[in-house]
Amino acid sequence: MGVNVNLELTDRCNIRCRMCSQSMREEAHGQPMRHMAWETWRAALAGLRSMGEEVHLCPHWLGEPTIHPQFDRFVEYAFFVNDDNRLFRSFKLHTNGVVFGEERARLLIRLANQPGQRLDTFNFIHFSIDAHSAEAYRLVKGADKRDQVYRNVERFLQIRAEMGMERPFVTLAYVVQPGNAEEAGAFLAHWRAALSALGRPLRATVDWPDQAADTVYLRPLNCGEQAEADRLHAEVCRALGLTTAAGDRLRGAESF
Ligand code: SF4
Repeated sequence: MGVNVNLELTDRCNIRCRMCSQSMREEAHGQPMRHMAWETWRAALAGLRSMGEEVHLCPHWLGEPTIHPQFDRFVEYAFFVNDDNRLFRSFKLHTNGVVFGEERARLLIRLANQPGQRLDTFNFIHFSIDAHSAEAYRLVKGADKRDQVYRNVERFLQIRAEMGMERPFVTLAYVVQPGNAEEAGAFLAHWRAALSALGRPLRATVDWPDQAADTVYLRPLNCGEQAEADRLHAEVCRALGLTTAAGDRLRGAESF
């Protein structure tokens, strides 16, 4: 069990997903958006020691963590002071993958596989991709970054394979919605081929992944027309053969 702790490195974002209110406001938390200060990060990490429960750490809440100007330094420090998992039991990164170069990929793979911590400390990077074509990406993500994101994720997978590592596993997330639903199959096929070329399997799920594996996660849109969004998600997942479950809502009662 344990407790989930989100230490938000930044509440800013570099793209404008149409399903995310973060992209539609000028401020967050009732204050102008800003990046976390170094001393705040150090103090927050030190404070994890007294939590009394296993901590599952995510450097994200609103915003896109990797655009923090010192993202690499912050994350490297967190793992440096977490020797023997004394501060956090696990770490998970959520990112849109826009700012994700080679050096960053190498750093994160190294941190996930460094000695002195439990093997599954850094199990997952969750890439929110949500589109296959450049047009759908522009529509859903509000930015012209499709090719850059695909290059970044593919390079990460390539480097991980060259380093002979499994971790961090990737979750390749796709929020099914009008405008991208018809290309969910192409998305799945693309990443299946990419992983297969590296000799790696790929799972596909209709709810949050619960296994340590590279996974395409087709996710329903959260919105005002929830029944309709769930129905579209269920139809797409059934059409792709990802489930035989009947009904319009595939995700578990507590899933969001
Ligand atoms: S990348 Fe994340 S934080 Fe940024 S707009 Fe999209 S969903 Fe929101």
